[in-house]
Amino acid sequence: CGIVGAVSQRNIVPVLVQGLQRLEYRGYDSCGVAVHTTGGPQRARSTARVAELMEQVQRDGVQGYTGIAHTRWATHGAPAVHNAHPHFSHGAGADAAAKPARVALVHNGIIENYEELRAALQKRGYVFVSQTDTEVITHLIDSLYEGDLFEAVKAATRQMQGAYAIAVFHKDEPHRVVGARAGSPLILGVGKKDNGDGDANYLASDAMALAGVTDQIVYLEEGDVVDIQLGKHWIVGKDHKPAQRPVRTVQAHS
Ligand code: GLU
Repeated sequence: CGIVGAVSQRNIVPVLVQGLQRLEYRGYDSCGVAVHTTGGPQRARSTARVAELMEQVQRDGVQGYTGIAHTRWATHGAPAVHNAHPHFSHGAGADAAAKPARVALVHNGIIENYEELRAALQKRGYVFVSQTDTEVITHLIDSLYEGDLFEAVKAATRQMQGAYAIAVFHKDEPHRVVGARAGSPLILGVGKKDNGDGDANYLASDAMALAGVTDQIVYLEEGDVVDIQLGKHWIVGKDHKPAQRPVRTVQAHS
């Protein structure tokens, strides 16, 4: 339903959760946020209001410079905390759950071929802990990861059928969030230098999620894959060739 993501040089959790609050009016059944930490991705998820997610992250001390957040409108799997996003991949193998998570991901939309992808990943030893179509993408990206998240996401999109907007980070790349869209909206927000936020970059399902944070918006096109890092971003089109997309100044509403 709603997505917010960021790379920054300050604790970004308040911006992520406030972004979810701006998307709340669209409706949702659960919400969650995950950040990069030195011990791997850390998350908080809730079937209550976003305001309660905020209390939970404060209580649990969830803090980080890089993160993703989501409001879910369930399509596959009941509304429940274990089906709420962000989803994690700990890698393949029966003992994987004991290790830190490697991939954290949020998704809007529906993956049509998730059953077939799930069966192939289960054969390779991936253990599924939710009933969502989304968890399949998380493990798929993990299975394709060879040290470069952007390459892994591009490879994954070649296998994904259906509608999606995703935002994902990897434990080994602390200042990077990768997004992709096909059939569901996703925008890039470029951090504003004049409020001391010049190196930050953002992803969101709607520019409104970034109101008061940045008004410098790039509307991604169908099939785009986007890489945000500190002070730079990179976009490829559906042919996976470099794409130029204009940065627009968008009237911020709050
Ligand atoms: N299909 C995914 C799920 O059920 C994402 C739903 C959404 O767009 O919020 O978890």
